[in-house]
Amino acid sequence: MNAPVPTHVLPQFELRPAPEAMLSALKASFGARFTTAAAVREQHGRDESPYPTTPPEVVVFCESTEEVAAVVRLASEHSIPVIPYGTGSSLEGHLLAVQGGISVDVSGMTGIVRLNPEDLTVTVQAGVTREQLNREIRDTGLFFPIDPGANASLGGMAATRASGTNAVRYGTMRENVLGLTVVTASGEVIHTGTRARKSSAGYDLTRLFVGSEGTLGVITEVTLKLYPLPEAVSAAICHFADIAAAVNTTIQIIQLGVPIARCELLDVNAVRAVNAQSKLGLRESPMLLMEFHGSPASVREQAETVQSVATEMGGEDFEWASTPEERTRLWTARHKAYFAGMQTNPGCRSVTTDTCVPISRLAEIIDASVADADATGLPYYIVGHVGDGNFHLAYLVKDGDAGERALAEAMSERMVRRAIALEGTCTGEHGIGLHKMGFLVEEAGEGAVAMMRAVKRALDPKNIMNPGKIFAW
Ligand SMILES: Cc1cc2nc3c(=O)[nH]c(=O)nc-3n(C[C@H](O)[C@H](O)[C@H](O)COP(=O)(O)OP(=O)(O)OC[C@H]3O[C@@H](n4cnc5c(N)ncnc54)[C@H](O)[C@@H]3O)c2cc1C
Repeated sequence: MNAPVPTHVLPQFELRPAPEAMLSALKASFGARFTTAAAVREQHGRDESPYPTTPPEVVVFCESTEEVAAVVRLASEHSIPVIPYGTGSSLEGHLLAVQGGISVDVSGMTGIVRLNPEDLTVTVQAGVTREQLNREIRDTGLFFPIDPGANASLGGMAATRASGTNAVRYGTMRENVLGLTVVTASGEVIHTGTRARKSSAGYDLTRLFVGSEGTLGVITEVTLKLYPLPEAVSAAICHFADIAAAVNTTIQIIQLGVPIARCELLDVNAVRAVNAQSKLGLRESPMLLMEFHGSPASVREQAETVQSVATEMGGEDFEWASTPEERTRLWTARHKAYFAGMQTNPGCRSVTTDTCVPISRLAEIIDASVADADATGLPYYIVGHVGDGNFHLAYLVKDGDAGERALAEAMSERMVRRAIALEGTCTGEHGIGLHKMGFLVEEAGEGAVAMMRAVKRALDPKNIMNPGKIFAW
């Protein structure tokens, strides 16, 4: 039975302490790359979620697949938890070491293993970040589009099935990972997928590990699709009198089939926050921030269609940003919106929602959620990858204020239930972690969760891989 987990309470599990002999063996192999220093353990036992820090017993910095396999073999022998660690930017309590164990930090695995521009593919070690990858391949005229805002690791992005601002055109990690090298829970090294664009060969293990949140194995290499840098890129902002007009504009753009690359919503609170932080001087009203990729003619055509839809919906002050500098300024501000929002209430923590619904139901869920949030009086802001039907309403609660936290979590729960009722999901891109565990059965059903549990038990019979996450063991 998978009992719902109250989302604002850290579930309690029994610790599984590592035997002294095992720690000594790890220390002998890793030297300075093995640490039990409190500050490092604490850094590895928290993420951007509002849960209290829950540190692992030890952190090991791995530099190769073989090193990861050696650590996992030892952990398996002693049934000690292993928590893979990329850059720590996840938001749902994914990294909390609820049973102690070893944090396997792969951020030092930063090699580009194989670049094949002629096939538009690249294989990277799991610790390569998306910004590093795009810097290193710039001369090929190609790029990797998945952009979760944070400069996350590609291993972590695969593990959380991340997406972000470009997904409306290029898809998510699900569509862009061709293959993986994985250290399984027994410490065996396996390869999934190939460099071919498609395959009908057996079960799709690549997609099983994409989104597995470190609960099935440690990803050590990722083979990705790349894309030609677009010939022309143009960004635009458009302001609206109310959030409903901005959302209805988005719905029409998507329903018309405009191949827009990015379509982001900022509510008035988010615009105020980015103005205060990045001195943008934007008009303080709900706005869409959009980007178009393609040939100059196609970009022009897309932009004209979008502008006419926006105007019909009452959009005003349509502004273009065609120079790379202007575009960078706007997108940097968008990427900083999370921290800009937090800065409006110093000392607060954010309880962030991540619902995603079919595009035709987006206006409905945003309207109801805004009314709910306004009624409680808690400060909040909204940013959203609305072109995908995905948005984040971040409630800002006083750190340590259990009453505010419970209020925000109750609103978050109501929003998730609305999304599920509209045939959507509790998480469009952040993943389940600890925070959304209570919703998985509601969304997927008992039968589907029982099948997930059967897969977990078959692949990780000792429950050592990131235990306590996604669903109850
Ligand atoms: C400001 C901000 C904005 C964000 N915006 C977005 C967004 O727009 N879209 C989006 O999708 N996400 C977003 N995120 C969330 C976050 O960036 C993603 O979840 C990201 O994919 C996490 O990558 P990471 O390298 O930081 O992984 P970590 O946080 O280190 O780990 C995340 C999970 O993956 C597992 N993991 C990490 N590396 C591996 C590995 N090599 N093998 C197996 N498991 C592994 C961990 O055990 C953990 O369960 C945002 C976060 C922040 C702070």
